[in-house]
Amino acid sequence: MDYVIMQKNDLKALVEQIYENLLERIDAEEEPTKGQVIGYLKDAVEIVSGINDKDIDSIEHAKESFNNSYKELVKQSLNSYKSTNQRFGELTQRNQETIEQCTSKHIDVDTLSSMFDEIQSHMIDEVKKANEVIADLTSKVKILEETSNLDPLTKVFNRRALSSYLGEICSNQGAISYPLHLIMLDIDNFKTINDKYGHITGDKILIFISNILRKTLRDGDKIFRYGGEEFTVIINRNTDEQCELIANRLLTLVSSNRLIYMGERISVTASIGVTKLHAGDTPDSLLSRADKALYMSKRNGKNMVTKVCE
Ligand code: GH3
Ligand code: MG
Ligand code: MG
Repeated sequence: MDYVIMQKNDLKALVEQIYENLLERIDAEEEPTKGQVIGYLKDAVEIVSGINDKDIDSIEHAKESFNNSYKELVKQSLNSYKSTNQRFGELTQRNQETIEQCTSKHIDVDTLSSMFDEIQSHMIDEVKKANEVIADLTSKVKILEETSNLDPLTKVFNRRALSSYLGEICSNQGAISYPLHLIMLDIDNFKTINDKYGHITGDKILIFISNILRKTLRDGDKIFRYGGEEFTVIINRNTDEQCELIANRLLTLVSSNRLIYMGERISVTASIGVTKLHAGDTPDSLLSRADKALYMSKRNGKNMVTKVCE
């Protein structure tokens, strides 16, 4: 592959440059219209979207710096948009006051009024368009954030994403009115598998397991690579029993695999620990309960599910 790896500082400089250009262009206009602001935002998004994902993926720090700078860019753009919006509001108000003052017989108030109405309706259209751009930007930011939170090998979320996700969940427990379960899956004897079949085969098994997780779980469930051969899954809106069933189904799919290496079927199994979010849990207390359940599965013979929900 002959692509140039973008260094953290290059990426930071690029985003800062886009951001500065954007502000300069907005500042250069005495009264920036919404259309212009929209144009600037579109240009900025296009430049940022044009960056090769592979280049960004190559350096963890660059991803973080990129995310922070991009969020800042959007925040500043939104602020500019809001102030333009406010100026439009003031303009509308002034128009209204002008109409009210037009009492002279020589002035056709009706015509004037309908002209102003037309201007106003144009403004509303602009606001609608601007809102669409904002929605588009917001979803692009979301995609960028998610991309940089992915594990490059398996393309599931990485541990950093898990920490921030669990942090959010634990600090907003009041808002979660449904059961939330955490599954911790660890491949059995993976060191031996690596030793016997090689690291590349080991990597393929990791991809295979993450595909099983992706196919088996529902859209709202989230999959993370917790560590080398450990995956964490967050399952929403299921009972303890349903979660145990899901976990057992995952183990069956893993152990009934048809992975072949030089004509020999590779035996792969995994162990699972299941737990549930309790009131007052922190990310650490939740994870350590799942870990405890996983440890029990390992100690009791592996290739099994242990549930520690209470
Ligand atoms: P247990 O059944 O107790 O879980 O044993 P184990 O061998 O799976 O666990 P151990 O923690 O002893 O070894 C984990 C191995 O996973 C060691 C390491 O080489 C391997 N591993 C970690 N990350 C990767 C990876 O990205 N690719 C490959 N191929 N192997 C990895
Ligand atoms: Mg492990
Ligand atoms: Mg293991």
